[in-house]
Amino acid sequence: MSDQFNAAIVEEFGPELTIGTLDLPEPGPHQALVKNLASGVCHTDLHAAEGDWPVKPEPPFVPGHEGVGEVVKLGPGDHDVQVGDMVGNVWLWSACGTCEHCRTGWETLCNSAEYGGYTVDGSFGEYMLVDTRYCARIPEGADPVEVAPILCAGVTVYKGLKVTDTRPGQFVVISGVGGLGHIAVQYAVAMGLRVIAVDIAPEKLELAKKHGAEFTVNAAETDPAAAINEYTKGGAHGVLVTAVHPKAFGQAIDMTRKGGTIVFNGLPPGDFPAPIFDIVFKALTIRGSLVGTRQDLEEALDFYARGLIKPTVTECKLGDVNSVFEDMRNGAIDGRMAIRYD
Ligand code: NAD
Ligand code: ZN
Ligand code: ZN
Repeated sequence: MSDQFNAAIVEEFGPELTIGTLDLPEPGPHQALVKNLASGVCHTDLHAAEGDWPVKPEPPFVPGHEGVGEVVKLGPGDHDVQVGDMVGNVWLWSACGTCEHCRTGWETLCNSAEYGGYTVDGSFGEYMLVDTRYCARIPEGADPVEVAPILCAGVTVYKGLKVTDTRPGQFVVISGVGGLGHIAVQYAVAMGLRVIAVDIAPEKLELAKKHGAEFTVNAAETDPAAAINEYTKGGAHGVLVTAVHPKAFGQAIDMTRKGGTIVFNGLPPGDFPAPIFDIVFKALTIRGSLVGTRQDLEEALDFYARGLIKPTVTECKLGDVNSVFEDMRNGAIDGRMAIRYD
């Protein structure tokens, strides 16, 4: 093992990451050093690199929170993973385990949480550290590139769908069929929901159909709320917004059935008008949802392991990351891109 490794580094906020070398970190207590095999590229990594959220990471840092690799070294103390195990880093890199949020099963809201590829270096590098109490356990036999998107996109939409409080047979809209949304369509189908997909690109809607959406709407051409209200005779019971444009958040209100629930996963900077009258008279629930707990992650990975979810992934190399970001900005990615390490 050389004492340096290659990584894509955000030196300053902006469009270009630097491909450079970093010193191999030493795993501390509760930590493991992982040799990466793959890493998905999430739109959150692009928000991180551009510094476009109100709470910003501090450059220099290495993005990436869908990393899959092999444990090569353990820090001091006891661990319940071993050298040779396949693990993953996730957005919820670690939490305190003792605060009110952690104690009540809301570890994703821990005030002392660390975020993979944001507050700690992530998986856009040949090596990374994970906290062995919070890392993902990769199901046996999984292809690292294919399973990588489950670690953020998968768990996020799985949890997001759960908190739409929909039941099998009801309508759910997936608004935004990118990395998150194309996997959301699959979880929703697996959960027995009737899936409607909305995007602004025809090829994304094709992908949604391929994964089981029964009705699709191109929001660039048609008013999605009108089309969905007509198709569902009164609106969808649940709406999951993964789109990267604030407009989609406002449109969700009009496409939701009375008494229905809207869940926001997408995080484009900005805001949207929220009509008080409609929200009250339709008795809507609007909630945000942030990734998922370790238990949500176990469950999301189990759907994958049972063959119910198959992310559409295109492989790339670490050195391609800037062009992947360019394609992501232009909405030109089918499903997810994932780096495969040599
Ligand atoms: P992506 O770039 O792969 O997909 C975004 C999709 O939104 C694209 O298909 C695009 O065509 C579509 N879109 C753009 N404008 C639209 C509009 N007006 N209506 C409908 N669709 C529209 O991004 P991704 O990796 O899927 O991430 C999506 C968002 O979710 C990002 O903002 C990301 O930061 C956020 N995210 C949130 C969480 C969480 O825990 N809440 C976790 C992961 C990602
Ligand atoms: Zn992510
Ligand atoms: Zn906590």
